[in-house]
Amino acid sequence: MDFLYNTTMIYDIIIIGGGVVGCAIAHEAVQYNLSVLLLEKEADVSEGTSKANSGVLHAGFNVPVGSLKAKFNVDGLKYFPKLCNDLQIDYNDCKKLVIAKDDKEKKTLVQLYEQGLANKCEGLSLIERKQIQSLQPSLYNGHDNYSGPAYALFSEKTAIVSPYELTIALAENALLNGATIKTSCEVSSIEKLSTEDTGIPEDCFHVGTTSGFSAGGRFVVNAAGLYSDKVASLIDSIDLKIYPWRGEYYILEKKAVELVDMAIYPVPPSDGGGLGVHLTPTVHNNLLIGPSAEFTDFPENLENTIPTMRQLLNEAWEMVPGLRGYTAIKNFSGIRSKLFGPGTSSGFEDFYINESPNIPNLIHIIGIESPGLTGAPSIAHHVIENIIGNRMDLSINSRFSYKRIRPVRARDLSNSDFRSLTERDPAYGEIICFCGRVSKGEIRDALHSPLSGEVFSSDKRGIGILNAIKKRTHTLMGDCQGGRCLSRLLHVVEEELGITAEEVLNDSDY
Ligand SMILES: Cc1cc2nc3c(=O)[nH]c(=O)nc-3n(C[C@H](O)[C@H](O)[C@H](O)COP(=O)(O)OP(=O)(O)OC[C@H]3O[C@@H](n4cnc5c(N)ncnc54)[C@H](O)[C@@H]3O)c2cc1C
Repeated sequence: MDFLYNTTMIYDIIIIGGGVVGCAIAHEAVQYNLSVLLLEKEADVSEGTSKANSGVLHAGFNVPVGSLKAKFNVDGLKYFPKLCNDLQIDYNDCKKLVIAKDDKEKKTLVQLYEQGLANKCEGLSLIERKQIQSLQPSLYNGHDNYSGPAYALFSEKTAIVSPYELTIALAENALLNGATIKTSCEVSSIEKLSTEDTGIPEDCFHVGTTSGFSAGGRFVVNAAGLYSDKVASLIDSIDLKIYPWRGEYYILEKKAVELVDMAIYPVPPSDGGGLGVHLTPTVHNNLLIGPSAEFTDFPENLENTIPTMRQLLNEAWEMVPGLRGYTAIKNFSGIRSKLFGPGTSSGFEDFYINESPNIPNLIHIIGIESPGLTGAPSIAHHVIENIIGNRMDLSINSRFSYKRIRPVRARDLSNSDFRSLTERDPAYGEIICFCGRVSKGEIRDALHSPLSGEVFSSDKRGIGILNAIKKRTHTLMGDCQGGRCLSRLLHVVEEELGITAEEVLNDSDY
């Protein structure tokens, strides 16, 4: 690492944005002997689009042949079994059915199937009523005027992960392998400095943030998601604009996975309006209904609207009438980064992943809507190996450690393992969240986990402590949504961080 003007560190790579893409790039970069800085404007990583999506690892049949979306989707999917094992996060190969009611809809299934084959997706087959019924009987029960799907495209390789657990795990592992991660650091300026300015033998960037922290970088990677066009405009003039496209969801109580334990999609709408409202199990055994698809004026507009929420339920009940008997425990929204606005395109725009045509060593990653979660590991590999690796020699970091230690999950343990754990440390036997069976020990671990120095640091307020604990432990996310555990949880935070319950609540949108 060099120093700029004797004070500011110069990193090999500065990554702007701690979503799944930025964190995957940091995780990839530290596998080489590169110094890496990741800057995130929020107090925690995974606070943007990577926090709120379906969590589906797509097979790759929904995206046009020859597109970057197809390339990174199909390639990205292959990384996940090993990556999730290395990072010790849950991976569930739940599989997927795209269902068609009749011969007209079957034509779309055949097109998707052929597109999938051309994209080299594995594990696809077209199936009919009998096989569909044996895979997911609830699709056939309780309909009034319809006897259930006649055809389906079955995808054996579709899987699910928790998108925020993945992002946090990538960031933690990057941090433990040498990356520097700074949260609450919104990048507000990027300048290119010449060798005459700096006295070091190559041009570099100077990146400033609203927190006052600044650093130098040989490469800057703009992975700022919904704000990547704004970050680009701090230094560059590329003609791309993000149009926020909201997707609203319901989360159903855990029992709903008794009826639906694989991803169920309708045939996608012909207007290019997303993949249609679908049913997706989560790795925590809830069931998601959604997302809707509507343009919004600004990226923070995460509201849930009554007409859309009604539409979600109606479409879910039409696919699986038995879901009427299950309770929705929460709703939420996520926002996609579209590169076209309402009525301005035929409905497809590819990812933009390029070195700037105007400024060498500045890499823009823009328009990473679905399948960006699935594609993230492959995008990261491409950015480091092909774009940065083209410009500088990369040598392997022989000290890189792939394995992340899995946080203790009391609910996953056998009775005997649970007993011996609680004998060693009784805090793991003190259950705070009964819905998710989360113990005091697990919350304590989260409050002291690798990113805690940034996320829970005492000089920060407005950080959403409860939100950060939720993402790490799954407490407050059960059927009671905190009704039974909040006061006990606040007590643990007070004990561990010395922050009063009142301060924590003032600091959260809970
Ligand atoms: C409703 C919905 C459903 C989806 N479903 C799926 C799916 O099932 N499967 C799939 O593969 N993909 C899915 N996606 C797409 C996937 O979620 C995204 O492609 C992915 O999360 C994008 O990650 P990202 O890192 O580019 O963006 P983000 O997660 O938004 O990260 C960008 C980060 O940059 C930060 N930032 C912004 N400006 C600055 C700044 N000036 N300085 C510092 N930091 C800054 C932000 O705070 C944010 O944390 C879905 C998306 C949505 C919205």
